[in-house]
Amino acid sequence: MADFNTHLMGAAAVSGLAATVLVMAGAAPHQAVIGYFVLGVVGGLLPDIDLPTSLPVRISFAAMAVVAGFLVVFTFGVRYSLAELVLMWIGCFVLIRYGLFTLLDRFTVHRGLVHTVPMGLGLGLATTAVAFHVFSASAVHAWLCGAFLAAGFIVHLLLDEFYSVDLFGRKLLKSSFGTAFSFGSLSQPLGTAALYLVVAGLFLVCPPPKPFVQLVLDRDTYRVLSQRLVPRDSWFAGWLNQVPPYRPSGR
Ligand SMILES: [Zn+2]
Repeated sequence: MADFNTHLMGAAAVSGLAATVLVMAGAAPHQAVIGYFVLGVVGGLLPDIDLPTSLPVRISFAAMAVVAGFLVVFTFGVRYSLAELVLMWIGCFVLIRYGLFTLLDRFTVHRGLVHTVPMGLGLGLATTAVAFHVFSASAVHAWLCGAFLAAGFIVHLLLDEFYSVDLFGRKLLKSSFGTAFSFGSLSQPLGTAALYLVVAGLFLVCPPPKPFVQLVLDRDTYRVLSQRLVPRDSWFAGWLNQVPPYRPSGR
C-alpha cells in the first residue's frame, strides 16, 4: 500500500501531464485546466477517505470543502448578494467537512466498496453530472472534470496495487496483491450490485459523452503534441536570448 505522499505525487504527476497535453492542444482555457488538475489530485486522495481518522484525510476534506465553496461563489457570484453568498459558502463547507465526512465515517469499512474501480467511475460520473447540471458547464468541460477525477482515483488504486508487489523480485506477490485494484467486494455482494446500478444511473443523468469522446479520439488533439514531443533542433532554443547577457561591472 502506497503512502499519502506517493499518492499525492502520483496523482499530481499524471493529472499534470494530462493537463499539459490539454494546454498544448489548446483544448481548454487555462483556468479550466487548473481546475481539472485539482480534480485529478483530489481523485487521487479519495479512495482512502474511508480512513477518516488520518490527518491527511481530514486535511483533504477541509480543502475539498473550501474548493467547493469557491465553486459555488464563482457560479452564483453575479446573481446573489454578499450575505447570501457567504451563507451558501458556509453551508457548502459544513455539508462537506462535517456532513459527508460523518456519513463516510459511519458507513464505510476501509478497503470495502470505496476502494474499488466502480466507485472511481461513479464519482467521476457524479462530478460530470454536477458540473453539467449545477454549474452549467459545457458537455466537454463537464466530462473533462469527471475524467480527471476518475483518472486520479484509478491511479491511486494502481499505485496501491504496485506497492503490494515486491519491486526487487525477491517475492513476486505479497498477500495484499489484488485487493487494491478491485471491481467490487465479495463480502458485500448487495452493496456491489447497488454500486453498479448507481454507476449506470449516473451515466444516464450525464450529458451525452460524444463531444468529449471525439476530443479524446481526435487526431488533431495530438497532432500538436506529436510535433512538439521533443524539440526539433536544440533544447530550450531561444531561451538564453531572453536572459540579458552578462556584463561585468566596474572595468
Ligand atoms: Zn489506498
